[in-house]
This record gives sequence, C-alpha cells and structure tokens, in this order.
Amino acid sequence: MTGWWRRWRRTRTLERRAIPDALWQQTLARYPFLAARSEAKVATLREMTTLFLARKEFGGAGGLVVDDAMAVAIAAQACLPALELGLSWLDGFVGIVVHPDAVVAHREREDEVGIVHSYDEELSGEAMHGGPVMLAWRDVDEAGESAEQGYNVVIHEFAHVIDMRAGITFDAEATADRSTARGRWLRSLFLEHERFARRADRDDETFLDPYAAESLEEFFAVGSEAFFVAPATLKTEQPRLYRLLAEFYRQDPERDRMEQGGREAPLKGAKRET
Ligand SMILES: [Zn+2]
Repeated sequence: MTGWWRRWRRTRTLERRAIPDALWQQTLARYPFLAARSEAKVATLREMTTLFLARKEFGGAGGLVVDDAMAVAIAAQACLPALELGLSWLDGFVGIVVHPDAVVAHREREDEVGIVHSYDEELSGEAMHGGPVMLAWRDVDEAGESAEQGYNVVIHEFAHVIDMRAGITFDAEATADRSTARGRWLRSLFLEHERFARRADRDDETFLDPYAAESLEEFFAVGSEAFFVAPATLKTEQPRLYRLLAEFYRQDPERDRMEQGGREAPLKGAKRET
C-alpha cells in the first residue's frame, strides 16, 4: 500500500522544490534540444527534473561549487533519455560528482600476450554500477554548442546508466536469440555496431565519434547522444540506428523537432547572459 504515499510525496516534491520559471526557461534556452518537443512533453521533463533533483546528490570536485543552474542543466539532460521510460530507469545510484574539467585517469590494460600497458585517459564523464556518475562541467556547459556535432556528455553517461540497469549491451546471449523482440532488437543493434566498426576501421568519415566502434556499450551511448541532440543528422546518416533507438527510448526526437518548426540550431539569445 505504498501507492498513495508515493503519489503524495511526488506531489509535495513538485510543489516544494519546483524549479523557478526563470531558471527553467534559461535552461531550455541554453540547451535548445531539450525544448524541441511539445509543451506537454517539456512540462513532463520539468517535473521529472524536479523529482530527479530531489533524489540525487550533487557534489563538486576540484573546488567547483555546483549551483542551481548547473544542477538543473545536468538533471534536465539526464532525464531526457528517460522521458518516456520513466524516472526509475535512472535509479540505482545517488551521487553525481562534477569536476571543473576533464579528469585524467591512469589506466592499465593487459594485451593478448600478457604485457601490461599503462596509459593516461582523459575523461569528460564516467558512469559505473551503483554510481557515482562523474561529469566534467566544461563539457556540460558547452552542450548547447556541441549539439550540432552530436556530442553530449550527460546523455552519454546516462545512456550507460540506463544500459547498466536494463543490461542491454551486456547480454551477449540475447544477441543470438531471434525468437524474442528483445533478441531481434539487440541483434540489429549488434549488426549496426559491426557495420560502424568496419567503417571506422577504414577511417571512413562518420558522423558518430569513431569511439563508438570501441564496444557495443559505447556504440549505444554515443548513438544515444546524437539521437537526442542531433536527431536530423543521425536519422540521415544512420537511419537504422535512429529507428532502433527510437524504438528503445519510445521517442522520436526528429518528429518532435519537425512538429515544433524544425529548429535544431541553438535559438537566438541562447547564450547565458551572466
Ligand atoms: Zn562511454
């Protein structure tokens, strides 16, 4: 009998912690891809963003102080992929750590003959089982401008969060199972990834970052970024991947965008004034 309790808490959170109008409008202006859908969907996104903010804990690293505008910017972008799936897809972790800039992580990898190679990797974000999610503010801050290239660090990391929860790219057995809709979907994604990896191997020009060739999980995450922030280009460049993601996320950002007048480029005056 927790239904009414949850509903009550939800209502209380939406009332008490409502995102101020000015801040919400500023967020939509800075990240126009959030607004490129019907008013009703944007209103749902705002509610989800409010609930997300109530459930998660933001922390700044390296002296960074996460203010309201930063938290709302991150939360709204994190909720976008879950808009039709539901907020529970983003459960399973609480902490979001925001660094001022990319973080250098020391990595070691053993090759086929057992030699350990150590190298440094620059990370703009990272998601792991149970959290926390790490994000570089510089990349989040520029997400309005980098949308044209299909780049979005928040959506990338939260696509991983959704993937980890659903076990999409980790279920190798399901890739071979064509008797279920899920198996067929995964098989199609797998084949799309293989096609993409071959193009990346040949150094073909690709709209998606060649990093997507690395693994099925990176293909899903990189594809998800482009799907939400540059849907027109992704649909033209990789229509099959677009369709698969539309099926998975139960969204069609390109159709939404066209219904709103087809704007994909940043709106006039989208720059922050401060
Ligand atoms: Zn990734």
